[in-house]
Amino acid sequence: MFKYAMNSEEIIIFTDLDGSLLNHDNFEFKKIKDFILECLLIGIKIIPNSSKTKKEIEIFSSQLGMKLPYIVENGAAIHNLDVLNPAFKIENNSLVLSRTIEEILEIFNKEVPKNFKEKCSFLKDMDKKQQQQILGLSEQFLPFALDRDYSIPFIFNGSHHMIDEFRLILETLEMKLHEGGRVFNISDNCSKGSALKSLIDKLKKDFLLNPFIIVVGDSPNDISMLKEAHQPCVVPLPNKNNLDNLEIKNILRAKQCAPEGWEEVIRSSLKRLNINLAG
Ligand SMILES: [Mg+2]
Repeated sequence: MFKYAMNSEEIIIFTDLDGSLLNHDNFEFKKIKDFILECLLIGIKIIPNSSKTKKEIEIFSSQLGMKLPYIVENGAAIHNLDVLNPAFKIENNSLVLSRTIEEILEIFNKEVPKNFKEKCSFLKDMDKKQQQQILGLSEQFLPFALDRDYSIPFIFNGSHHMIDEFRLILETLEMKLHEGGRVFNISDNCSKGSALKSLIDKLKKDFLLNPFIIVVGDSPNDISMLKEAHQPCVVPLPNKNNLDNLEIKNILRAKQCAPEGWEEVIRSSLKRLNINLAG
């Protein structure tokens, strides 16, 4: 039988989806579906923490065939808290950590200098073909990605130097710039890391729980949550040097891309805890 150094029910995996668990190009995860289910079966909690929308993550959950707690739009809100702990008594079963998209857009329009605004092409203003091409989505799935409550995806048509400046301007407005695998996002002053921290603080305070945290990511918008992990894991992207220079103690790096890379780093993480899954 397995010998657990740690009870597997004390482990939470916060995972990015695109490029980390889902294949960067076709969003597939079939090859590791059984492994994910096995993790859940032994009591490990898996919380997708993504820039994706509520609808997109619900589609992922239904493909997996499991109801999961999850964090949407780069840390803006946490849903399905009762799955994590049935004793959670919270309005709508969700924690909302962000202002609305209308408020964020209003600040952007009023406060961001014109020369920066001009460099931002919002996806919402593009035609369908362009949106599909940038997001790599079929017509069927495109509307779910664009149905956003808290963040604004865009392409930046300026230099690296300018994007750094733009990031600082947004910070003074108490907003954030997130860089994902395909697009940038403007959001409220939240991040994947701050949402993770809010949730863990709540588990500690309300239920006296102190879970072991594994985090899986592939892009700059995952750094904030990787820094909160006991076990940070990075999955490489196929066509881009991403997070190559990120130095965090104890980091595990997958050799393979997603989805196989996800299984690779989770197996290694669990092995370090003396949990060896079959297969
Ligand atoms: Mg990603």
